Amino acid sequence: MQQQYVVGIDLGGTKIAMALAGTEGRILASTRHPTNVSGGPETILSTLVNMVDKLLATHGLRRNQLSAVGMGVPCLLEKDSSICRFSPNLFWRDVDIGSFWRQHFSCPLVVDNDVRLGALAEQTWGASQGARDLLFVAIGTGIGSGLIIDGEIYRGSRGLAGEIGHMTLVPDGPLCNCGNRGCLEVYAAGPAIARRAREAMTADGESLLWQLCAGREEDVTAELVSQAADKGDQLAQRIWEETGHYLGTGLASVATLLNPEKIVVGGGVAQAGKKLFRPLRQTLAKQVLTVPGIDYPVLPATLGSEAGVLGAIAAALKF
Ligand SMILES: [Zn+2]
Repeated sequence: MQQQYVVGIDLGGTKIAMALAGTEGRILASTRHPTNVSGGPETILSTLVNMVDKLLATHGLRRNQLSAVGMGVPCLLEKDSSICRFSPNLFWRDVDIGSFWRQHFSCPLVVDNDVRLGALAEQTWGASQGARDLLFVAIGTGIGSGLIIDGEIYRGSRGLAGEIGHMTLVPDGPLCNCGNRGCLEVYAAGPAIARRAREAMTADGESLLWQLCAGREEDVTAELVSQAADKGDQLAQRIWEETGHYLGTGLASVATLLNPEKIVVGGGVAQAGKKLFRPLRQTLAKQVLTVPGIDYPVLPATLGSEAGVLGAIAAALKF
């Protein structure tokens, strides 16, 4: 029988990452390209098709040697469809990815939310290999989650499950991009960490953050708050302590509801490391409902920015 191949695509708001793999999952070639968001869906989807062709060409392969393609997209997808209903990062509404794809490829296309595929990647190759019940949380510009329940990705009745970033943490808190107030995301996502640090800085002219941002408050990012904390700045350390507390509170609710075997935290903000994980674990352990002997391990993700592509490959292989 002829050897078959799969392609995994991670379509992000700033870049597209893609890899060709054999059916055993070994990556043979990979490529990246900036996402031309302003070009609209047609331009982006055409770019994806060209990228796949180039990737195949690196190994002298033809389109009909692909057994499946997996694609992670940062969007709300209706269940069992490849129609992107809404993507705030790509500015897409009701884009029928599957129809476009079928004009070019005859192999199946598996489209799923990018964080869900991140969860699948961590379960297949990463921090929580083999876990049957897993909660994967990605913290970056926003906060998303992927749930694996009883070994399978959980999507909910209509495909919208996992929007952990929009659980209400503080009624009447700050306004969130989703239109509600006080969501977890407005306290613990990257931009929220920067905002809380800026608010605290106005009352503390001594903070090292003033130096690190060269007096320009608008330049404060979560990464800068991380650097300041590592250099011993108390204001920045307090911001991370509080961030861990907010996340621990949110995750304790989800853990109490779902009783996952493991919780994996990834995304750019998770790079903060111990100063985030310590207060997060403490708060979670305090607030979750459990019994002696059953705890909830919170692990840092291990696949980094590759999780999206690897998850897409895993999805294609599962097809
Ligand atoms: Zn929200």
